[in-house]
Amino acid sequence: MLPFEETEIAIVGAGIVGLSVAHVLRGLGLSVRCFDAAAAGGAQSAGGSRIMRAAYSDARMLWLARKARDGWDRWEAAAGLALIDRTGSFLIVERPQDELARLEGLGLKVRVVPPAEQEELLPVRRPWSRPVILEEEAGTIRARASVEWLKSSLGEALLEHTAVLGLSQRSGHVLVSTRKAIYRARRVLVCAGMQTPVIGRHMGVEVPQVYSVHQRLLFPLKPALRERPMVSFRDKSDHRQGVLYTYGLPALHDDLFAVGLEPSDTDRSGGGHPDQVVEHTLALVEETLPGLDASRFDIESCVSTSLEHPADGAPWESERLEVVRRGAVDFFAGGHLFKFAPALGEMLAGMVLGSDVPAMLQPDG
Ligand SMILES: Cc1cc2nc3c(=O)[nH]c(=O)nc-3n(C[C@H](O)[C@H](O)[C@H](O)COP(=O)(O)OP(=O)(O)OC[C@H]3O[C@@H](n4cnc5c(N)ncnc54)[C@H](O)[C@@H]3O)c2cc1C
Repeated sequence: MLPFEETEIAIVGAGIVGLSVAHVLRGLGLSVRCFDAAAAGGAQSAGGSRIMRAAYSDARMLWLARKARDGWDRWEAAAGLALIDRTGSFLIVERPQDELARLEGLGLKVRVVPPAEQEELLPVRRPWSRPVILEEEAGTIRARASVEWLKSSLGEALLEHTAVLGLSQRSGHVLVSTRKAIYRARRVLVCAGMQTPVIGRHMGVEVPQVYSVHQRLLFPLKPALRERPMVSFRDKSDHRQGVLYTYGLPALHDDLFAVGLEPSDTDRSGGGHPDQVVEHTLALVEETLPGLDASRFDIESCVSTSLEHPADGAPWESERLEVVRRGAVDFFAGGHLFKFAPALGEMLAGMVLGSDVPAMLQPDG
């Protein structure tokens, strides 16, 4: 008898994606192992909060975000925990009336918020001088609590600090090598964040994913605002220093509020420009966010994956997800994934259980 550990499905990477897929498969009673080289949820999925929204332009992503919203409701009921603060989210754009009509046409609950209500919903910020759109069913995900709950649902199926060193396709199964054991799996899903293309390349598979490095700054809320529920915002009319947009959201821990600048395509390569990002984020806070204490802040540097930029030079905005299938191994690539977790978990679990790669995840889908 060969000394292999048997598992039906092996998942490489226990970020929010791997954890979600493993959770669904475990719920179906399947034998699954979810490996992480370090601590689960410690890479891109780390941190206190994420924005949940559905205001995507791509109809497939909008569909996925809506499906995920229902999924978050189910997860909350199962967990008996509040995983989302359903406060809504502000969207600021150059042509608000056009955007409002477009989003309404997509069936989203949106409305323009007058300045007094802006102050009420986002008391850390000065009201905008232009109309602000509220996406009413958006919210802020309690990211840390979500990761912890998913981890706790996996029991022995989760193997932290267990890097997958190699994947070898054999007829009818895949051998998954870790330092101390070899696992024999019927199928493998690689969702290892920034490492997915590296693992792919090792097997002769090109995974069209890139990553960039960002900084976001965490500022203390002034004492009077600490208990107040608040919306997040994405200001797509603010292109200071050539950024795509500026954003802010409650960090949901230690009375902090996170502020960031989404860099433009040209600023994404290498390590970006951390010194300039810090300087410009501070300037944004001093100018527009009087509810924050700008004299004290923490810097959070993080990696952010996305599909490779479109070859036709279309502006970057991570609105595509993709799976590259090679035999019994699927490589998942994409970015801005947290909000989709419950829907992605179901979709990718169904896929590894034997169905085709869903149309929206196919390379030309
Ligand atoms: C600052 C910031 C803000 C964001 N804001 C939002 C937001 O508002 N809304 C939203 O929806 N999304 C947001 N995102 C994006 C979202 O957080 C990520 O897309 C998501 O967390 C990625 O999850 P993942 O599971 O794909 O990858 P990761 O969390 O990176 O997980 C991959 C895991 O694979 C493991 N791994 C790597 N190599 C191996 C190996 N060989 N063997 C075993 N394990 C391995 C790593 O240790 C890691 O834990 C944000 C991201 C950042 C960084």
